[in-house]
Amino acid sequence: MGPISVLVLTLILPGSAVAAWVGEAIDLMGTRVSVDLWHEDARRGRELVQNVLAEYRRIDETMSTYKETSELSRVNREADSKSVAVSVELFDLVKRALNLSRTSDGAFDITYESVGYLYDFRVGRHPSQTDIEMRLDAINYRLVELDETARTIAFARPGVRINLGGIAKGYAVEHGAALLRAAGVQNAMLNAGGDTRVVGDRRGQAWVVGIRHPRLADEIVTRLPLQDEAISTSGDYERFFEEGGRRYHHIINPLTGEPTQGVLSATVIGPDATLTDGLSTSVFVLGPEDGLALIEQIPGYEAIIVDASGRLSFSTGLAAAAE
Ligand code: ADP
Ligand code: MG
Repeated sequence: MGPISVLVLTLILPGSAVAAWVGEAIDLMGTRVSVDLWHEDARRGRELVQNVLAEYRRIDETMSTYKETSELSRVNREADSKSVAVSVELFDLVKRALNLSRTSDGAFDITYESVGYLYDFRVGRHPSQTDIEMRLDAINYRLVELDETARTIAFARPGVRINLGGIAKGYAVEHGAALLRAAGVQNAMLNAGGDTRVVGDRRGQAWVVGIRHPRLADEIVTRLPLQDEAISTSGDYERFFEEGGRRYHHIINPLTGEPTQGVLSATVIGPDATLTDGLSTSVFVLGPEDGLALIEQIPGYEAIIVDASGRLSFSTGLAAAAE
């Protein structure tokens, strides 16, 4: 039905549903999150928008390390002295994170938090070399023990902490997209900071997502048309401070306990936002060469990397499309 016939129906049947784009953006998870969707009944559409925002909040309440009351914070407090029983949702996401650690050869590692908790990017605080050396052994995803039957998490030694910041926003938008599809929504865009998931197209045209220039705030490196896909960007410009000519940003090399170098931004595109999120962080840590090699081995996923000298590299699927 075209826009004109929708209008006619609306005039003939007062009180009947009005089709429209509806959406909302709020501050959550330390960033801006949003959902926009098309619905034949705008009132129902607005309800669904609220349902998605409620799910974002619930995920944040479960997985935030900033909230003492979150399930994840409880794991961090207790799992070095006992096995902690957790929800299916948290268990499954931690399991996916550990799988990605294996696939990325340890570049993605949620135990980065064992040192990572000592950074505070808002106030410009970082750990000393001694602080890092004392805790570096606790960064190792193999120290996280999962018991599938009991559905528990335990840490193999004291000092281990986990943080799902590299994967939870992607999970949130993927989860939101699943909720919308189950409710019959065919066109939507869900965003949480650097992670975007689109459902369908934008009613006749592709969604277009721009990749920000990592240094020039208003410039776009490239634009990508997307349909039923996810795109995640990890950048060193989201959360950082500078000290002594050095940039301290929020993506940590698990081998050193310090911010990684060599990449300004890493973007990954693919069908699942949980994975594009985890992969963008992984590629950022791995660097252009090993990062692209990782992406090439995962079917359906593509990457764009901006390296320290501002040079762009594309995975083969995108390089072919760009020709
Ligand atoms: P953004 O949060 O800007 O979307 P990312 O998806 O790359 O960017 O997530 C960065 C977050 O990932 C950090 O804030 C931190 O919580 C977490 N993180 C940092 N280093 C690692 C790492 N080596 N492995 C897994 N997670 C990490
Ligand atoms: Mg990520």
